[in-house]
Amino acid sequence: MAVADAPLLSVIVPVKDEETVIGAFVARVTQVLDTLPPLDGATPSWEILFIDDGSQDTTLAAIHAAHRGDSRIRALSLSRNFGKEAALSAGLDHARGAAVVPMDVDLQDPPEVIADMLLRWREGYDVVYGVRRNRMADSLPKRMTADLYYRAHNWLSSDKIPEHAGDFRLLDRKVVEVIKLMPERNRFMKGLFAWSGFRQTAVEYDRVPRSIGETKFNYWKLWTLAIDGITSASTVPLRVWSYLGAAIALMSLFYAVYLVLRTVFFGVDVAGYPSMMVATLFLGGVQLLSLGVLGEYVGRILVEVKHRPIYIVRETIGGD
Ligand code: UDP
Ligand code: MG
Repeated sequence: MAVADAPLLSVIVPVKDEETVIGAFVARVTQVLDTLPPLDGATPSWEILFIDDGSQDTTLAAIHAAHRGDSRIRALSLSRNFGKEAALSAGLDHARGAAVVPMDVDLQDPPEVIADMLLRWREGYDVVYGVRRNRMADSLPKRMTADLYYRAHNWLSSDKIPEHAGDFRLLDRKVVEVIKLMPERNRFMKGLFAWSGFRQTAVEYDRVPRSIGETKFNYWKLWTLAIDGITSASTVPLRVWSYLGAAIALMSLFYAVYLVLRTVFFGVDVAGYPSMMVATLFLGGVQLLSLGVLGEYVGRILVEVKHRPIYIVRETIGGD
């Protein structure tokens, strides 16, 4: 995708039903990008690449208008809603820059931070991720569940994802090319970034609450994303049943010996209904749970073996 006059910096922005936000985003980010401090003695050149993720409102028209106003604003429009992770993949595939910065359209991530990211990039880092100094912009339950998730993920997986970091980060072209090579359909981007390695560093910033439009992520969507993240990064949830099974079998063995001895020395008593019930119900529950976990992985294998495209582009604005 590299063309002769490729810009230095690509800002990729997945958008779903954001008609009220596009204008404000373009105005603010264009202003910031146009006044970036010089890098190696030259003003950094840039592009903004929107990925319209199946918007049902006038988002696409707003993007067309933005492109007419400034040809450095390009876009892809997907054939339907593929989800933010797929939209980000589309953005990475079509970005032209030597550095790529994924960003949400809602301006929760201040574009001014890009200047810091560029500096760290010039120091030789390949990934510069933004870390939220505070999460006050999020509600308490969201903060608590996010905390819990990062802890669970990093405990279960060997690819640690940095806490309080979102998708807002700068990626060197090298890293982008690696992500593009990853064939999986389940694209939990933070997991892919973590897996790819490279020299990574953080810049801190304050995340502000969304001022216009509303969040596209309810708790159910976040839960699904969390399961995607863990199942794509770790097989511990599959393995844990072997250990649990072994432990229960061992305990049953001791219990059996105890029962036999008790019968031999003290004779038979007919009681034993509670222990039967407990054992049956407990084991039944454990088996269903483990089957469910197995099913999660099998379902994901099905999605992967179908080899369907991750996204479908319906229209490109401002060149491929
Ligand atoms: N988004 C998307 N596809 C979706 C849902 C969201 O491209 O199916 C975009 C959305 O337009 C926004 C970004 O992803 O630019 C982050 O969404 P949002 O601000 O709603 O998430 P939150 O900040 O609440 O986690
Ligand atoms: Mg947001």
